[in-house]
Amino acid sequence: MTIPEDTRVIQPESERYNAELVSRRDETDDLAYFVVRFRGEPVPFEPGQYMTIGVFADDRLVQRPYSIASSPRTADEGYEFYVRLVPILRFTTLLWRLPVGHEMRMTGPKGRFQLEPDDDRTHLFISTGTGIAPFISMIKTDLFDGKPRRTIVAHGVSYARELGYRREFEQWEADGLPISYVPTVSRPADPANAGWTGRTGRVDAILDDVCRDFHLVPERTVAYICGNPEMILKAEAIVRAHGLPEPHVKKELYWPKGKDAGLAGDTSSPRVPEMAGQG
Ligand SMILES: Cc1cc2nc3c(=O)[nH]c(=O)nc-3n(C[C@H](O)[C@H](O)[C@H](O)COP(=O)(O)OP(=O)(O)OC[C@H]3O[C@@H](n4cnc5c(N)ncnc54)[C@H](O)[C@@H]3O)c2cc1C
Repeated sequence: MTIPEDTRVIQPESERYNAELVSRRDETDDLAYFVVRFRGEPVPFEPGQYMTIGVFADDRLVQRPYSIASSPRTADEGYEFYVRLVPILRFTTLLWRLPVGHEMRMTGPKGRFQLEPDDDRTHLFISTGTGIAPFISMIKTDLFDGKPRRTIVAHGVSYARELGYRREFEQWEADGLPISYVPTVSRPADPANAGWTGRTGRVDAILDDVCRDFHLVPERTVAYICGNPEMILKAEAIVRAHGLPEPHVKKELYWPKGKDAGLAGDTSSPRVPEMAGQG
């Protein structure tokens, strides 16, 4: 992926900075986990909510919302975000340039994409790409509280290497927790997916099978869908057709429908056709 050079000057100090980038771990060239910690006390949040993080570049604050992937039970260590690098000179190209220890602005939490307390229905978590993030916070928090829910996690990506948090899911399954991990890759024929033996196709395309294979009873199931808006609409239609009533479907859109900016779904590596040589 070629990204135009980002020459904006990132401001190292500001009285509006209230947090710090405390760690970063790269999963692939364009997927990474970032932990941002408030300078003072952490603010409480509910699993599924998001924070807005940003920095000043060329004298203006550039900031974006990100689902918190870590649990509020570990908020004093910072808030983890799972982010895809979008090859447009907006926020993520700044974030990728930030050294660990750099100051940032963080506000929030916000968002109503939350679990219901003591909900004993089966939870069907559906996501593409980085949309897995809020589900990690939800599952980790339930585990901290010793109250894991019956959960099925359908996660769609283009390439198996993009299955963020795969190790955690496999460990939770191996530990016998009531969590079923259903990853799927949408480009099985690509050499990068050689050796992949799991499900194939886009995540919405496997949902019918998932509903059947796990014998999901609509009245006893709640679906949470997060990520790419096109996928969310398709997935919603499928679970509704399976019988889930509207209040049993909760959605978090990462960008407005129709604003794909040529980024080939969210499950693929972002492309920016309008930028020369990057089709
Ligand atoms: C409530 C909420 C929570 C979010 N949580 C996350 C998160 O946990 N992780 C994350 O990576 N992003 C998340 N996003 C998207 C994030 O806010 C930014 O839009 C994204 O990081 C791109 O920022 P940008 O400034 O580089 O480009 P922007 O100008 O913000 O977006 C440009 C285009 O990039 C594409 N795009 C945006 N986000 C993604 C993505 N995640 N994967 C693929 N393509 C994308 C869309 O086509 C969008 O129109 C969330 C958005 C919302 C509204």
